Amino acid sequence: MKALTWHGQGDVRVDTHPDPEIEEPTDVVIKVTSTAICGSDLHLFDGFVPMMKSGDIIGHEPMGIVEEVGSGVTRLKKGDRVVVPFTISCGHCWFCDQTLFSLCDNTNPKPENARQAMGHAPAGIYGYSHLTGGIPGGQAEYLRVPHADVGPIKVPDGLTDEQVLFLSDIFPTGYMGAENAEIQPGETVAVWGCGPVGQFAIQSAWMLGAGRVIAIDREPERLRMAAENSKAETINFEEVDGKLHELLSDMTDGRGPDRCIEAVGMEAHGASAAKTIVDKAAQATHTQSDRTYALNQAIMACRKGGTISMPGVYAQSGSVKLGPLMNKGLTLKTGQTHVQRYLEPLMQKIESGEIDPSFIITHTAPLADAPKMYETFRDKKDDCIKVVLKP
Ligand code: NAD
Ligand code: ZN
Repeated sequence: MKALTWHGQGDVRVDTHPDPEIEEPTDVVIKVTSTAICGSDLHLFDGFVPMMKSGDIIGHEPMGIVEEVGSGVTRLKKGDRVVVPFTISCGHCWFCDQTLFSLCDNTNPKPENARQAMGHAPAGIYGYSHLTGGIPGGQAEYLRVPHADVGPIKVPDGLTDEQVLFLSDIFPTGYMGAENAEIQPGETVAVWGCGPVGQFAIQSAWMLGAGRVIAIDREPERLRMAAENSKAETINFEEVDGKLHELLSDMTDGRGPDRCIEAVGMEAHGASAAKTIVDKAAQATHTQSDRTYALNQAIMACRKGGTISMPGVYAQSGSVKLGPLMNKGLTLKTGQTHVQRYLEPLMQKIESGEIDPSFIITHTAPLADAPKMYETFRDKKDDCIKVVLKP
């Protein structure tokens, strides 16, 4: 089969690989019909994630048709159309029992790698680093899906791939990002990052009762989508000349937003942001190589006693403003998304017409064009916000 493989920083290629096969009785193999590129994939592309190997098949936002079924699978049969969550969960360990699916104890085949490198072992994740198991990913013609009775959700008739694909990751991720923000009815929520995760965090903040949502980015097309589609007030942080805190404070009676969501992660402005768009209050201690820029802005801007939710991904340490975090009495919540927890309720929202997640798609391309689309997405060329690949 054809599959997108990682070969180093800025180097992804479509290579030929053996088709995946059933390895465990609880596996299925799907023929991938749609598979998206995620901001998390950009962290791999940018070389920010340790423990990648040349030739790894990447991608973790897939859906498709069940082709082969292991003897122990009871919920799925050949021909079923399914969306596959990016987190792989066994469904019966202590963590899965608490619905902490992305912390499953049994699906990362190399947890010792994670323990050495990060001090903990997350669940297995498709197409990500060997920290999360080195499990072949879904930007490919076929995908082996372990624990197939626990993860994939069947798609009801009448819904397109484009409507349901983002249940694999970014819709639940935006939703958990908003849920972790602990929004009380009528509160003001500020969202850093208007990429795909930020857009779904904004939409979810409204669903969870926000009275006001303020979205922050510097990409005009993303800000336009946040305003027009997701109904947020917007701030282009490059245009406010280092006065983001003052502006947010002025907009909120001098207190700051009640709840802040960091949907930026490592890719973003790391080094370049620190050089060009430093917020004055943060400037004193900010270093050029610090990728926690947006998180620190959120810590500085959030009102006392507020909450910061951080779906943004970090695979390395950084310098976090612990003093303000502590002295302002802030709560910080983060983590990989427990996707399985949200599949049924969010599928219902799509079926009822409350949300149509396809609004996020700006580009659709064949798998063969994936290397070009990684560049397009990373560099925000051609107003790119979300790419769907069709293997
Ligand atoms: P993306 O790269 O498309 O979007 C990030 C956005 O942040 C961009 O629009 C960029 O212009 C903006 N940005 C950069 N610096 C900023 C700053 N200082 N202030 C405000 N905005 C800034 O990525 P995405 O797909 O939307 O993903 C966002 C993050 O969420 C990534 O870190 C990704 O890895 C992470 N993610 C987490 C999970 C999870 O389970 N927790 C799942 C999926 C994605
Ligand atoms: Zn993703």
